[in-house]
Amino acid sequence: MTDSAQREAPRADAELAAVPTSATGVIIVDLAQIRANWRALVGRVAPAECAAVVKADAYGLGAAHVIPALVKEGCRTFFVATIAEAAQARGLAPEATIYVLDGLLPGTGSELLAIGAIPALASFEEVKEWATLAAARGARLPTVLHLDTGLSRLGLTGSDMNVIATEGRARSLDVRLIMSHLGCADNPEHDMNALQRENFDAMRGCMAHVPASLVASDGLMLGVDYHYDLVRPGYALYGGQAFQGGPAPVAPVLIVKARVLQVRHVQPGDQVGYSATWRPNRPTRLAIVAAGYDDGVARALSRGTGEDGAHVMFEGKLAPIVGRVSMDLITVDVTKLKHPPVRGDFVDLIGPGLPIETVGAAAGTIGYEVLTRLGRRFHRIYRGG
Ligand SMILES: *Cc1c(COP(=O)(O)O)cnc(C)c1O
Repeated sequence: MTDSAQREAPRADAELAAVPTSATGVIIVDLAQIRANWRALVGRVAPAECAAVVKADAYGLGAAHVIPALVKEGCRTFFVATIAEAAQARGLAPEATIYVLDGLLPGTGSELLAIGAIPALASFEEVKEWATLAAARGARLPTVLHLDTGLSRLGLTGSDMNVIATEGRARSLDVRLIMSHLGCADNPEHDMNALQRENFDAMRGCMAHVPASLVASDGLMLGVDYHYDLVRPGYALYGGQAFQGGPAPVAPVLIVKARVLQVRHVQPGDQVGYSATWRPNRPTRLAIVAAGYDDGVARALSRGTGEDGAHVMFEGKLAPIVGRVSMDLITVDVTKLKHPPVRGDFVDLIGPGLPIETVGAAAGTIGYEVLTRLGRRFHRIYRGG
C-alpha cells in the first residue's frame, strides 16, 4: 500500500460507513483539493487572473458543488459551454463573470443577456447578430471575441478582426476579453505553441488595450509569455495531468469505488462474460463488481487477457479486469490478492495508485473523458465544501 493510500484510510473508512448499503458504488469528490488546486494555479500565474472552466457539469464532478466551492475560494470568472450551464452557474455565482464558450446560437441573445452571461463570439455572423441586438437595445453589450489562431475549430479570422475594427462595429460592442485556444499545448516542444502566440498578438493588435486570454491547463505551464491577463484551466482544477513537460502543481480530487456483488471460482474450460472473450488457464477467483459502462467504466477496458491494461485496486493492490465490461458489471481476477475482497466490499476504480490518466490510457482515451463519463448511479460524497 502506498503512503498516500494509508493516509487516506481513516477518513475513507468513516465516509464509507455512511454510504447507504444499497449503493452499488460511490464517487468521492474532494472539493477542498479542487480549491487548493485553483489556489496553486493562482500562485502559478499571478499577476494574471485565474478563471475556472466548469463546462460539462464541472467535467462530470458536479457544478452545483464545484462552483460554490470556487466562489468561496475567491474565483470571480467562470467559463461554461452552453446557455443552460450559464444559467446554472449564474444561480450559484450571482456576482461572477460568466463566459459562454459556444458563443451565440442564433436567436439566443436575449436569453444570454437575461442570465447576465457573455458569449465568446467566434464568427462574423455572431458578431453581427450581437451588434444588431446592441443597436436595438441602444446599449453597448459586453463581448468576448474568440480568435482562431491555428486550431481551425471556433474563432474569428484576421480579416474578420480587420473588418470589425475598421467598420467601427466594435463601437456597439463592449469588448471585455479577446481569447484564443492552443491546439498542442500539452507538448511544450510543439512549434504550434509559439506560432499561435504570434498569430494571437498580430490579430489582436488592432485592439491591443483589451484584456487577453490564450491558455488553459496545459498552456499555462508553457510559461509567463503565455499567461496574458487571464488563464482558463479546467482539467488541472480537477487534478488532471496532461502537460508532457512536467507535473502541474495540482493533486487528484476523485475517488470512485464499486461494490463486490459476489466472489466465485472458475476453472480452465469455463468462459467469462459476453462473447466468451476470456477463458481462465488456471483455477481463478473472480470478483463480480457492480460497475459497468453505464457507470463510466469504458467498454474499451475489455481487454481479453486483462494482463496488459485495465485494473481495479483493492487495499493498494492491482487486480485485472477480465472479459467484457457489461452495462452494470465487470469481472475482476483477484486470484493473486493475498487478502481478496468479499461480498459487499468496495474496490477502487479510480483513486490513489489508479489515476484518471492511467484508467483513460487503458481504455484508449484520456483522463478528460474518464471524468466526463462518470455515471449517475453511484452515491456521491463531496468532501470539504
Ligand atoms: C475546455 C476549454 C478550456 C479548458 O481546457 P482544460 O484543458 O480543461 O484546461 C479552456 N478554453 C477553451 C476554449 C475550452 O474549450
